[in-house]
Amino acid sequence: MTQYDKIVPPVDGASITIKNGELNVPDNPIIPFIRGDGIGIDIWPATQRVIDAAVQKAYGGEKCIAWFKVYAGDEAVEKYGPNQYLPQDTLKAVQEYLVAIKGPLTTPVGGGIRSLNVTLRQVLDLYACVRPVRWFRGVPSPVTHPERMNIVIFRENTEDVYAGIEWQQGTPEVKMVIDFINNTMKKKVREDSGIGIKPISVFGSKRLARKAIKHAISEGRKSVTFMHKGNIMKFTEGAFKDWGYQLALEEFRDYVITEAELWDEARAADGVTPITKPGAFAHLRDDKPAGNPGSRIVIKDRIADSMFQQILTRADEYEVVCTPNLNGDYISDAAAAQVGGLGMAPGANIGDYIGFFEATHGTAPKYAGKDMVNPGSLMLSGVMMLTYLGWREAANLVETGIERTIEAKVVTYDLHRLMEGATKVSCSGYADAVIKNM
Ligand code: NAP
Repeated sequence: MTQYDKIVPPVDGASITIKNGELNVPDNPIIPFIRGDGIGIDIWPATQRVIDAAVQKAYGGEKCIAWFKVYAGDEAVEKYGPNQYLPQDTLKAVQEYLVAIKGPLTTPVGGGIRSLNVTLRQVLDLYACVRPVRWFRGVPSPVTHPERMNIVIFRENTEDVYAGIEWQQGTPEVKMVIDFINNTMKKKVREDSGIGIKPISVFGSKRLARKAIKHAISEGRKSVTFMHKGNIMKFTEGAFKDWGYQLALEEFRDYVITEAELWDEARAADGVTPITKPGAFAHLRDDKPAGNPGSRIVIKDRIADSMFQQILTRADEYEVVCTPNLNGDYISDAAAAQVGGLGMAPGANIGDYIGFFEATHGTAPKYAGKDMVNPGSLMLSGVMMLTYLGWREAANLVETGIERTIEAKVVTYDLHRLMEGATKVSCSGYADAVIKNM
């Protein structure tokens, strides 16, 4: 039994465990939550109410989440003392209970404290940042056909130039690195450079590709696209793509066909092994009816720059996108902007088993406590979480509630200012409307 310093797990819940490589979810799982800083104070209670209402409606009391309040950010400092932004208690709780959800966290400025979000991902080895991006009817969009976008982005979370291996210009350390590059490796780097390292490994790339492909299999998606800049960065981004194809063929041969094979064997591709077996990773959300009978998942790749124009012009040709960290950062927000912006974009950071669901926007401090911001991002992250638990009925209820509320043009200030004839409601009022519309 894990010992905690300042928190006590709820007594009316049970632990999610791992059984035969899968999550084993009891009817009353203990789920740690971090309220979040800034507008977390508004969006978390609204979200919690909506999730609880959906679970109650879906299962009539047979299932119920035992919420476990844990601390990070400003609230943690209040409870645990100065600089205690991410207490051990919190990390231990997420490790023990495997599924957790959080509001946004302030990145403490100065004092050598790293982003709490980055720290959480690294300490818990949450290597896949998963961002589903779809449009809800009625949400204002800058593109002509926002309904064509329905993709899930798998962004690598632990490697790439994001790994934080860098040396500041002018330091003795950067001089050593530049000397090595110039003298030993016989390359030419300017002496007055700063240096960042971009590691991309076989292990890191393959485990992400595995997750993306399993997701495509279990959710009946038609394609997985490796997005990379391998035409220029051959041994990092190019290798990421190559290892992705390799993994797809080594581990999922019965389920996949590469785009190149498709061209070669267009006819022979008919009638091959249908996708019937669910993957081990059968948890993430489903935006379309499962099943892709009679055909295999197409594995393809696209150069990153081309991918940006492709999601604008032919978004419906992409379903699951698997990509290194930096590309994933850019494409996630660009895709979200096409369907209504970050206020509606859910996300999760997922490891081998731990699923940590989060609002993708920040703490918007100027709105904190005003009960006015859009809780959509966190609510939709709740949809992902419920799906991850295997509670699809409840997930569908939340999603339907949001869909109908927006269709009825009942929205918070951010969407209200972009929509004609809409009714503006508060954050908590929006939650009421979603519950009513489930
Ligand atoms: P931000 O908090 O995301 O807010 C920027 C703007 O986005 C807001 O002023 C607001 O725009 C809009 N917005 C954000 N969330 C909204 C919501 N739920 N509903 C409606 N509109 C929303 O970005 P920031 O001001 O750059 O960052 C503030 C803090 O958050 C920083 O400490 C940053 O490090 C942190 N952060 C945390 C996370 C995370 O925890 N995942 C992510 C990003 C940033 P308008 O003013 O136009 O209404």
